[in-house]
Amino acid sequence: MAAEIERAVVVTGGSRGIGRAICQALAEAGTHVFFNYYTPGDREAEETAAAETRELVEASGAKATGIWANVADKEQVETFFKQVMETCGRIDVLVNNAGITRDNLLVRMKEKEWDDVLEVNLKGPFLCIQIASRVMMKQRSGRIINIASIVGVVGNPGQANYVASKAGIIGLTKTAAREYASRGVTVNAVAPGFIETDMTAKLSQKVKAAMLAQIPLGRAGTPADVAAAVKFLASEDAAYLTGQVIHVSGGMYM
Ligand code: NAP
Repeated sequence: MAAEIERAVVVTGGSRGIGRAICQALAEAGTHVFFNYYTPGDREAEETAAAETRELVEASGAKATGIWANVADKEQVETFFKQVMETCGRIDVLVNNAGITRDNLLVRMKEKEWDDVLEVNLKGPFLCIQIASRVMMKQRSGRIINIASIVGVVGNPGQANYVASKAGIIGLTKTAAREYASRGVTVNAVAPGFIETDMTAKLSQKVKAAMLAQIPLGRAGTPADVAAAVKFLASEDAAYLTGQVIHVSGGMYM
């Protein structure tokens, strides 16, 4: 076990976008940041992206390990966490960030589009929380932060699967917060609004303009905006918060 590591941080979906910014924000000397990533397809591009996250984390003096593992696959999740435990022997922070979209109007939505999104966005956090919380409860300390979405609260046409997964993660957050509070483990959610990442890059200019028009602060959010809220929730200053949903949406939701 690496004795010099004081804090083990696990971030799902850390190779790009918001997850990468979270890995960077939580990186400091004495911390080992573990992240996973997984998209069947362009494996080379993924490995390059993961290497970039590792470099950014290491530039802050932290250690970084990126692992190709699907959050929706129980065996792969177990292997991922086994590596964390074998290296650090503890888990201090878990950020459930990995997420996907498969948009379609409800009337046309295919069963597979529904299943894929629910598997990654909701079953994934369930699997990770179950493993990490067992460790955290024994430690009598730990922080779990789930990345939800504004649409999980207000709904969004064309995203029934995604919205259901994000509303589900809010319910999961509140229940886990109640179950683990007496063991010193806090569970909170961050609900981003419209954030500039690969996920939103695929939206049409028309949709993007309509989104921007709804943001009182007048700009899209950045991954760093979301990561700052996660960093706060993972810090000592957030010791008295649990079961909360923090909206990072430029005022889109209030
Ligand atoms: P992104 O740019 O598409 O990045 C998604 C990340 O998740 C990538 O690192 C991806 O890895 C990883 N991932 C996808 N499927 C995975 C799986 N099955 N197992 C493990 N990792 C997986 O997305 P983002 O915009 O940063 O979104 C991050 C989170 O914020 C998501 O939960 C999303 O729902 C939420 N959110 C985003 C916005 C927004 O406006 N962008 C708004 C609200 C909420 P690969 O590189 O291997 O694909």
